[in-house]
Amino acid sequence: MSALRPSPITPTVDFERDGVQHGFLRLPYSRDDSAWGSVTIPICVVRNAKGPAALLTGGNHGDEYEGPLALYELARTLDPKDVTGTVIIVPAMNYPAFRAGTRTSPIDKGNMNRSFPGRPDGTVTEKIADYFQRELLPRADIVFDFHSGGKTLDFVPFCAAHTLPDKAQEEKAFAAVEAFSAPFSMRMTEIDTVGMYDTAAEEMGKVFVTTELGGGGTARAETVRIARRGIVNVLRHAGIISGAVEKGRTRWLDMPSGDCFTFAEEDGMIETMVDLGDKVDEGQVVARIHSVGRTGVAPQEIKARMSGLLAARHFPGLIKAGDCASVIAVEVG
Ligand SMILES: [Zn+2]
Repeated sequence: MSALRPSPITPTVDFERDGVQHGFLRLPYSRDDSAWGSVTIPICVVRNAKGPAALLTGGNHGDEYEGPLALYELARTLDPKDVTGTVIIVPAMNYPAFRAGTRTSPIDKGNMNRSFPGRPDGTVTEKIADYFQRELLPRADIVFDFHSGGKTLDFVPFCAAHTLPDKAQEEKAFAAVEAFSAPFSMRMTEIDTVGMYDTAAEEMGKVFVTTELGGGGTARAETVRIARRGIVNVLRHAGIISGAVEKGRTRWLDMPSGDCFTFAEEDGMIETMVDLGDKVDEGQVVARIHSVGRTGVAPQEIKARMSGLLAARHFPGLIKAGDCASVIAVEVG
């Protein structure tokens, strides 16, 4: 394989300079309304001397708001005097998607979390992924990527890491999850790992931590508070900012298999039969999908394929065949 060409992205910040810098990752993007235009992705670097480096991202999906709300605030307020090492903050990673309020990019329909390792000569989304893959991830010791459910899902608020083949790496990630102190902490199973930022970071040996803090295409007061307190806790836990971790009670959840998920088999109107956090028994009807094209049709029953608690649910009132209807998680230890 020939060597990849350099990234077309130019940072306006210097990653080796002490102090606070607010700048951009500038990606040339020539288009009808701006011949020599760029996509300018906001970035903040807070550095003070040598020490560990954290890479913090929100807006990997453009319709999830707890991460951006926590990270624009952190970038505005973090004092380098309180830092040992480096904090790199990109509050809206898929910036075109974030500006459009959509999960994927309006430019190329790119889902950032399915675009890794990216391409320097690919689409806008692939070029951003490539820059993270080759320029930003290698700088980091700990990588924290905020997610929420977006417009189509709603979650109980949890911080999460993946079970990994490298148990030392896995243990560090779960320790950071514990420090985040969300109401729930998750040992996560993915249904579709190819192209994920998570996988890219983990394969580089980084400590990778993520969240699902709510959803519905908005943020709640409680979930924003969880995000803001949690990220400070993680930076304290990593020794990058001073002060003690503010521990809260967390309940550990596991997603042991694909049986966690249920999917709609028909289009219709969804009626949730249990609320987020409620206990669910295997075989229990967790949702019903009502046919709307005519009257007199019995609803499709969505039954839990395992016992646990309702960790996520389809958010909008209408659902389509193939949509994820519910996620059940098991409370552990
Ligand atoms: Zn997401």
